Amino acid sequence: MFKFKRRQVEVISLQIFERKCIGCERCVDRCHHKVLGMVYKDNRSYATVEYRDRCKGCGGCTWECPTDAIELITV
Ligand code: SF4
Ligand code: SF4
Repeated sequence: MFKFKRRQVEVISLQIFERKCIGCERCVDRCHHKVLGMVYKDNRSYATVEYRDRCKGCGGCTWECPTDAIELITV
């Protein structure tokens, strides 16, 4: 029987564009590795990258984001 190893993904860049973010928290809920968090400031909220080192580059947060506010670059 063949076993397929999941390909290692290297995260080159993970960032959230604050101005595009509407604070829906979908990305935070989606990330099982607790990479992302929320900032509540000046009567608005937006997502931020809190623990970049934990990111596996799965892309889940980017698929969830309705405003395309997350940039993820992997190799
Ligand atoms: S790419 Fe995956 S592991 Fe990284 S922040 Fe998004 S959901 Fe979390
Ligand atoms: S899913 Fe997108 S719009 Fe929603 S909080 Fe995350 S970055 Fe912001």
